[in-house]
Amino acid sequence: MKLDYEKLGLKSGIEIHQQLDTARKLFCNCKSRLSQDAPLRIIDRKMRAVAGELGAVDVAAAREALKNKVFHYSIYPEETCLTCTDSEPPHPMNMEALEIGMKIALMLNCTIPDEIQVMRKTVIDGSNTSGFQRTALVGMDGWVDTKFGKVVITDIMIEEDAAKIIKRNTADVHYSLDRLGIPLVEIGTAPDCRHPEQVKELAEKIGMILKSTGKVKTGLGKIRQDVNVSIKGGTRIELKGVQSLSIIPEAVDREIMRQQLYVDKKEKVTPEVRKCLPDGRSEFMRPMGGGHRLYPETDIPPIRIDRVWLDQLRLQLPELLEDRTSRYIAEYNLSPDIAKQLASSGRMGLFEYLVEWADPKVLATTLTSTLTQVRREGADISKLDKNHFREIFRALKKGEIAREAIPELLKEMANRPREKFQEILKAAAGGTVSESDLRLIVKKVVDSKPGLLKTGRPEKVYMGLVMKEVRGRFPGGKVMKAVAEEIKRRK
Ligand SMILES: [Zn+2]
Repeated sequence: MKLDYEKLGLKSGIEIHQQLDTARKLFCNCKSRLSQDAPLRIIDRKMRAVAGELGAVDVAAAREALKNKVFHYSIYPEETCLTCTDSEPPHPMNMEALEIGMKIALMLNCTIPDEIQVMRKTVIDGSNTSGFQRTALVGMDGWVDTKFGKVVITDIMIEEDAAKIIKRNTADVHYSLDRLGIPLVEIGTAPDCRHPEQVKELAEKIGMILKSTGKVKTGLGKIRQDVNVSIKGGTRIELKGVQSLSIIPEAVDREIMRQQLYVDKKEKVTPEVRKCLPDGRSEFMRPMGGGHRLYPETDIPPIRIDRVWLDQLRLQLPELLEDRTSRYIAEYNLSPDIAKQLASSGRMGLFEYLVEWADPKVLATTLTSTLTQVRREGADISKLDKNHFREIFRALKKGEIAREAIPELLKEMANRPREKFQEILKAAAGGTVSESDLRLIVKKVVDSKPGLLKTGRPEKVYMGLVMKEVRGRFPGGKVMKAVAEEIKRRK
């Protein structure tokens, strides 16, 4: 069904949260990552409502405290500390995170405040041990271009990620504290989108800008998108957790039609927060909250932003991924498809590091489709670093291996990331092949199918059969030469 968005009066905007790729958490010295270890222990807490700075007790907090819930928190040796459990005041803000946030703000044409003031936002579900989330405005009043027109960026915040929920019961909730305090950037836009495709483009564009910094965490759960939708006669509805870009137009369309049902019946649409499901449908989550309950974080002094610092940051802004992609197409003659894949893989840094002496096309294919294939076949490619790729492309350049051997080598390296390259070479595809081995293989292949000698181009067919046997343990050029020699010998 085609919807007339203009007539419906569609207004839509987004809010994006993405984790920053810093070494440390935002307000303590903990490692900023999810723990691979078993929890050190589990601590229990209860929540008590106390008066805020202005002397009043928050109604929602008081109501929640009455439930007398127990919160269990898993703590870890390297990813949690006394600040994480709210037993010690926060440390000063992580400057690495602040700089990334300010660069993002500049890339989105925002104004940076003169002073960064950390605020507390009340959180009553126990997902933060302190009872509030720390958040700081780093940019406002920016904009981003879309094919449909400009969209205003209202605010950019740097804030703490919440603890990760493990299990929720009626009387108690279990959280894992490793995620608490990982720096997040939150980007909010005005409801300037007038078409569902514009919302998708907007999310895509902001995602591209975030990735261009090379300083955001990517992968499942590292980026979270919320979309707000309203139509004429309806109201502003928030769709939480829209999982993928491709589902955005569908989710917006479905929300328009849901509100339209009420509008047609002349009924009021209740403002609410809805959870977006993977297929674009949504379900009720909770009523729309009032304004954020924000008040100053008195444990952290404000940070003055000096203009010299800001000018320096401006000079260090990274090249946008989309510009870099076009440059790769022009400079290295990559296909637009491979260049785009390379850009979204986040491996452009690795590409630039190796392209000085590797064939750009082979390198780009290795860093995109070959790696995907190797991962699908069960290898943990997160174990591979730039040294592994350097070994492979050095060997390729010296003619020690054929490009067909790359997938096997990557697999071996992912399994044994600390192993010497010579050992990897031996293990991959069952050992190396010497020149004399190669001649034997060629002879065996020709012997097994002598009839092919009489065909039009026997070299090509034998070559294919021999390559299957050699499985990349020998450069293709040399194999071809051996095959041609063997055929010549027999004529
Ligand atoms: Zn900590």
